[in-house]
Amino acid sequence: MKTVFELSKEGRSAYQVPSLAVAEYKLGEEFLTQAPAELPEVDEVTLVRHYTELSNNAYGVDNGFYPLGSCTMKYNPKVNEITASLNGFTNLHPLQKKRDIQGSLELMYRLQESLKAITGMAGVSLQPAAGAHGEYTGLKIIKKYHRLRGDNRNKIIVPDSAHGTNPASSTLCGMQIVNIPSTADGLVDIEALKAVCDENTAGLMLTNPNTLGIFDKNILEISKIVHDVGGLLYYDGANLNAVMGVARPADMGFDVVHLNLHKTFATPHGGGGPGSGPVGVCEKLVEYLPNPVVVKDKSGSYSFTEPENSIGQVKAFYGNFNVLVKAYTYILVLGKEGIRNGTEMAVLNANYLKKLLEKYDYKKDQPCMHEFVLSMKKVHDETGVSALDVAKAMIDGGIHPPTMYFPNIVAEALMFEPTETESKETLEWAANLILSIIDEAYTNPEKLHNAPAKAYIERPDEVKAARDPKVSE
Ligand SMILES: *Cc1c(COP(=O)(O)O)cnc(C)c1O
Repeated sequence: MKTVFELSKEGRSAYQVPSLAVAEYKLGEEFLTQAPAELPEVDEVTLVRHYTELSNNAYGVDNGFYPLGSCTMKYNPKVNEITASLNGFTNLHPLQKKRDIQGSLELMYRLQESLKAITGMAGVSLQPAAGAHGEYTGLKIIKKYHRLRGDNRNKIIVPDSAHGTNPASSTLCGMQIVNIPSTADGLVDIEALKAVCDENTAGLMLTNPNTLGIFDKNILEISKIVHDVGGLLYYDGANLNAVMGVARPADMGFDVVHLNLHKTFATPHGGGGPGSGPVGVCEKLVEYLPNPVVVKDKSGSYSFTEPENSIGQVKAFYGNFNVLVKAYTYILVLGKEGIRNGTEMAVLNANYLKKLLEKYDYKKDQPCMHEFVLSMKKVHDETGVSALDVAKAMIDGGIHPPTMYFPNIVAEALMFEPTETESKETLEWAANLILSIIDEAYTNPEKLHNAPAKAYIERPDEVKAARDPKVSE
């Protein structure tokens, strides 16, 4: 496929500018660029075909199965897009007076309340723009909490199965990371945790269920160990698909949590679209939330407050407001029962697919939550076909590859999260396809080394792409 610049022919255009309705105004020379702008010149139909072809070559949940683990690629109901594009929401200006935006503030307030109910937390901020941004915000809160008590503790404990953003946000916050290993079951190693917990422990970052899709049954003990040395517990709730409506981070002993609205609450993601990573905190941390927090007064009108010891603003104005509209719509459409049902279906679907792929399961003897991990180690040892080869071959079969080589503690890992929105038939079809690909590793390994064959882009040289990126012509 050509780039739009390669399609360019001098003098062609796809637009007509209406004639001026006001007097022409001559801008000073100093405001004008001297060289002509390098823009492609194409006619309208060429332009439409170009972008339609591009969109046809993009793969998303609306095209097919997308079982990316630790990423919750669930189907996003279209009604969310309809509400988010209502004129009343899209035509607002962030500097408008509060009395003119009562409806939008009410929506934010209700979303805050819903997320409080779902997580069990005492206060929520909708400001952060993504999961990692939520982590950063939560860690700033933890840090300020300790500092205002005259305490310089600086250690954040992160298990080795953690999402990569956890150590990254801790470092950005100026904290020191201490890694602890997982047990063979993929759970937090209690003895290792005890060994590193001391008066310098600011907090522990955890996701439960963890990145192996396993619920850590020792969570109350873990929380006690960390709290006993004065540390706080941070819950990475990017993927709440396995627990929402069933269990609440607050009840597990967590003090801070972030949620990814663009994973769990059905906003499309991937490709860098806007996200939202609200942060919830327990009672004693409410005063540190980033401002503004939406409040409702006795007369029923909505406004903002700045929490007493707020860490300040972390995003311009109100966060990514349109994402908030989508998430609130999703919650309203499902309701309390629907949210719980979604969780149960997500867990059932993951366990069903896990069972169908049992032969390669990393944890055969244990049910999973919303996701599970296969290991291609044996296949790789026997045939030379790697997890990467299998993932690439899935593209030819019409499945988006799962997450690869994560979590790091599993050799040749392939991590699947089918989500609640897939049917039994889709799961069976996918399992058959994956099993037949693995069979081919034994009969035709060359084919897998070279997969995908049918995709728009074949196997790129990933090392070269990383080491020697060609970012311009
Ligand atoms: C996706 C994810 C994140 C990061 O979220 P972003 O919105 O991509 O910044 C953090 N933790 C976990 C467990 C995740 O799955």
